[in-house]
Formats: sequence, structure tokens, C-alpha cells
Amino acid sequence: MKKISIAIDGPAAAGKSTIAKMIAKDLNYTYIDTGAMYRCVAYYAFIKQIDFHDEVKVCALLEEIHIEMLPDGSIYLNREDVTFSIRQNEISMGASIVSSYKDVREFLVEQQRKMAQGGGVILDGRDIGTVVLKDAELKIYQVASIECRAMRRHKENLEKGIESDLKQIEEEIEKRDYQDMHRDISPLKKADDAIEIDTSDMSLDEVVARIMELVEERV
Ligand code: C5P
Repeated sequence: MKKISIAIDGPAAAGKSTIAKMIAKDLNYTYIDTGAMYRCVAYYAFIKQIDFHDEVKVCALLEEIHIEMLPDGSIYLNREDVTFSIRQNEISMGASIVSSYKDVREFLVEQQRKMAQGGGVILDGRDIGTVVLKDAELKIYQVASIECRAMRRHKENLEKGIESDLKQIEEEIEKRDYQDMHRDISPLKKADDAIEIDTSDMSLDEVVARIMELVEERV
């Protein structure tokens, strides 16, 4: 069967990574979590005590940043396992700030394209269908209502034993989406040829089944 490239974009906490991982497993494709790469840049700035808003200083760190994504889903930054540390709220917001910088985007997009060479890949993020893989055979724009996204994230936190405030999550997600949609470079938007899926009233299995149908039409 032909191996294609799949792009999944959409706003924060829309369940893109959960779905992408399930599809990658079913198809035996490589999953690339591009958001984790922006989170690594923010995390590195954080541990170096650099203000996320200081573009010059953040960009100067790029040459020291080496990111590795292992097949088991763990993320290494300069050989340190940061899989969990990059998920903190502060780092989510930091990622949204540093991702607006041109040098940061160029640095990461180049690596993402290299990783995606040859197909058989599924990437999730904000600019995959519009910038990183403009020629992807299948582009999905995955959305869900803000209430639904905040509630899912809230439940996830509680299950992991992380303290969680629903109202605060909702506000943070909205702020991050606003920033991601209004930045000058590669803002979050649906690619013209992307298929929109609203997952608010769908189960995970239903979303996966829908995307698998679309994959089958293309391979
Ligand atoms: O997907 P995730 O929530 O982990 O992404 C964190 C942040 O990284 C996003 O809010 C966005 O600002 C940025 N990002 C991006 N382009 C991508 C993936 C993520 O700008 N392809």
C-alpha cells in the first residue's frame, strides 16, 4: 500500500495528538508531534531563565538545542528526557510565544520536513497543511468547541493527579488559540484543501474511523 503523508492541524487541546497516535499505530506510520518541538524551545528558554518575550535571546539559544523524538513517544532535549516537563501550563504558554519568532519556526520546520521525508508519516500542529507539508495527500483540520476541549483537558489532568481548574484551562486555551491565529508568520488556519472534522460530539473511535476512510480513499 502506498505510504502517504497526513497533516492534522487545529486549535489547542482538540485531541489531535491522541488521534494522530492512534492512526500512526493502525497504519504503522511515524507520528511527529511538532508542538512538542516548540515546547522544547520554550522549556530550554525557561531553564536558562530567558524571558519568552525576548526574541533575540530566545533565538540565540537555538544553536544549543538538540531535540530527539523516540518511537515510544518520549522527547529528549539535549539528552535529557523532557517528555513530561514540557507539558506544564507555563511551557504551553511559552511555546505559543516563542513559536511566533521567524528563526524558531525556520529552525523547527526544516527538521520537521527532514523527518517527514519519504512519507508514511503523520504530523500534528498548527501549520502542517499550510506550510510544513503543503503537498500532504491528506489534510485534516480538527476542531471541537471550547467547552469540550477545556473539559477533556481538565479530566486528563485529574486522571494524572494534576491540580486543575476548568475555568482557568478554558481561558488559557482561548488565549493560546488567539495568539496562534493572529501571529504574522504561519498563523493557525485551515488549509484550503483540508477536511474539517468537528470532534465535539464524536468518540475517539469515530474520529479515527472517519480519518481511516479518508486515508483509504488516498492510498
Ligand atoms: O500542540 P501543542 O499544544 O503542544 O503546541 C504548543 C504550541 O506550539 C502551540 O500553542 C503553538 O503556539 C505552537 N505550535 C506551532 N506550530 C506547530 C505546532 C505547535 O506554532 N506546528
